[in-house]
Amino acid sequence: MLEPALRILKDVFGYDSFRGRQGAIIERVANGGDALVLMPTGGGKSLCFQVPALLRPGLAVVVSPLIALMEDQVATLDELGVAAVALNSTLSAAEQRQIADRIRRNEIKLLYVAPERLVQPRMLEFLQDLDIALFAIDEAHCVSQWGHDFRPEYLQLGQLAELFPHVPRIALTATADMRTREEIVTRLHLQNAERFLSSFDRPNIFYRIVPKEQPRKQLLAFLKERKGDAGIVYCLSRKKVEEVATFLSAEGFPALPYHAGLAYDVRAGNQKRFLNEEGLIMVATIAFGMGIDKPNVRFVAHLDLPKSLEAYYQETGRAGRDGLPADAWMAYGLQDVITLKQMLQSSEGDERHKRLEQHKLDAMLALCEQIRCRRQALLQYFDEELPKPCGHCDNCVDNVQTWDATEPARQALSAIFRSGQRYGVGHLVDVLLGKDNDKVRSSGHQHLSVFGMGKALSEGEWRSLFRQLVARGLADVDLEGYGGLRLSEACRPLLRGEVTLELRRDLKPQLAAKSSSSGGSSASQLVRPDEREQWEALRALRRKLAEEHAVPPYVIFPDSTLLEMLRSQPGSMAEMGEVSGVGARKLERYGAAFLEVLSGAAEIVPVVVDIRHELVSLARAGMTPQQIAGQLKCTEKNVYSLLAEAIGRQQLSLEQALDLPMELLGEIQDAFLDADGELPAVAAIVEQFAGRVPEGVLYCVRAALQAEFEV
Ligand code: ADP
Ligand code: ZN
Repeated sequence: MLEPALRILKDVFGYDSFRGRQGAIIERVANGGDALVLMPTGGGKSLCFQVPALLRPGLAVVVSPLIALMEDQVATLDELGVAAVALNSTLSAAEQRQIADRIRRNEIKLLYVAPERLVQPRMLEFLQDLDIALFAIDEAHCVSQWGHDFRPEYLQLGQLAELFPHVPRIALTATADMRTREEIVTRLHLQNAERFLSSFDRPNIFYRIVPKEQPRKQLLAFLKERKGDAGIVYCLSRKKVEEVATFLSAEGFPALPYHAGLAYDVRAGNQKRFLNEEGLIMVATIAFGMGIDKPNVRFVAHLDLPKSLEAYYQETGRAGRDGLPADAWMAYGLQDVITLKQMLQSSEGDERHKRLEQHKLDAMLALCEQIRCRRQALLQYFDEELPKPCGHCDNCVDNVQTWDATEPARQALSAIFRSGQRYGVGHLVDVLLGKDNDKVRSSGHQHLSVFGMGKALSEGEWRSLFRQLVARGLADVDLEGYGGLRLSEACRPLLRGEVTLELRRDLKPQLAAKSSSSGGSSASQLVRPDEREQWEALRALRRKLAEEHAVPPYVIFPDSTLLEMLRSQPGSMAEMGEVSGVGARKLERYGAAFLEVLSGAAEIVPVVVDIRHELVSLARAGMTPQQIAGQLKCTEKNVYSLLAEAIGRQQLSLEQALDLPMELLGEIQDAFLDADGELPAVAAIVEQFAGRVPEGVLYCVRAALQAEFEV
């Protein structure tokens, strides 16, 4: 069975060997057995049902919870020359009938369908008359009532077992926990399924957690090493999402906001752009997530602390699906702990539920303050043992230091106690440092015995200490929401001198702001400077093809394939066919074009295309012409003329390109429209606006008017 499977892997998908347990899973399902597949994001789950679908006679039915996921897979299969369709609510009745006819004529190999549609009686009857190769249930954790992604329709999928007793079923998920696993088995009637459990480690992700000092500056420093990379920045609140997106765009990093408070079209539009364009940053709340199959997300940055390790793992896991180096970066500080603890305390729900949430938050905090390898700690939480420190996280590469904080911790706890257990960290630190300011004097705290006792440590060190006390539960945050600290039960042994306390020594801010491993884990560092030009040319060609085919660039070829082309420099079609990710169909369609770029024959054109494309992206992300000029290193005049062109091609609206006051815009439009007949040239009205707007603005307005008239 493996022989033909390998042939399909090579011919259709262009890959040489199976990854991890793919081979065994495919063999099981192709032979008619059921399977439960637990594999991390990016592990290669899709092939586990796509290959058996091609090996077995009949139609393979794939259940998927989101239209975006279905469309992505169908587009990918389409590019590979595999007949796949998605049945969803966006299709008209006529289109649906047409698909049904094609299925009856055996012209389709894979049918993607939403669960609610699959379980409709008419649909089930339709399928029962057909030869079914297999059922694949993707994102199978959606059946779990305890998870975030619960979809009631998934509960009905259990009936497939009785209705189609001889059809193999494969359920797949990237959710690891035991409880979900058992729920999938019971609810989907997969008692006879063989279980395939992979390691949940994501070895290509570099983890780093830094103390939050000046978060925006730290984020910029992190991004500077990753110019041109696509990534996600998670924030807790909607307001912060918008502020950070605006801030990043102004700093030359094209960024889009995403949160549940945005209108549906705006959200959908931003998501689509993130998938289709390269190098965009999505600043988002956790509303942004499932359904993001973009393989080349190079980093996930957290400006706020996630509520649990489950959330952290899932969110950071969206980086590096393609297996190339990627970064998970987070800035975390005392305020995060306070905010989350307060949210938890004031949340609804019974005590048991709160305790559970508290427990999850504590595990998250423990990871932040972790002294040992972060990956070991993270995996251990999911019951997986990593035998050695990973060597690929901040704690492994920076060699974290600890210090004996027993005595200062006692002083800190004493300061909390003696000041009445209601002051925040700022004030407590002032007291310890003996600062003689208004607040200290008005509270009479200059008379406390701890006043000025802590001069041996700096303000930053004290803050770090307080943060760690709260994170470890040795001090609590008040319920009233002012951030005052109280003693907790847990601190008694420390106060009584029965235990000692080792704390993490925070790195100096400059060092902490420096992002990734010294080994360089960013994708912009993937290619060497001397390879840069050819890399950009390959990417430009890919982008052009993607636009022509109306698919995201990664559907044409993933970055890993372009990188291999760059490194192996194929010189013939035969050599091109050897590149991983180049199957027969893609070789035939695109091989020659990429060979041409590699040979240098087609270099110039793509680079020009490149600048135009980038300009449109930057303008849409809200940059001013002046900022764009800085970004693209060209003159403003140049920018205006390219903007006018883009407006003429209707790639940009006037509002996206320029930020003009309404009245001024009206005046300019009138000046053009007042002339009878043809639109006058810019030269005819330039005098009128001299000194008020750059001439380029007039070109843009004219282009917009012209585009309007042509429609
Ligand atoms: P998952 O659904 O588990 O997150 P995907 O099925 O999307 O992962 O696969 C992730 C990436 O890895 C895809 O780009 C896919 O083409 C690639 N891939 C999967 N299996 C292999 C393999 N055996 N060899 C090379 N690349 C693979
Ligand atoms: Zn490590």
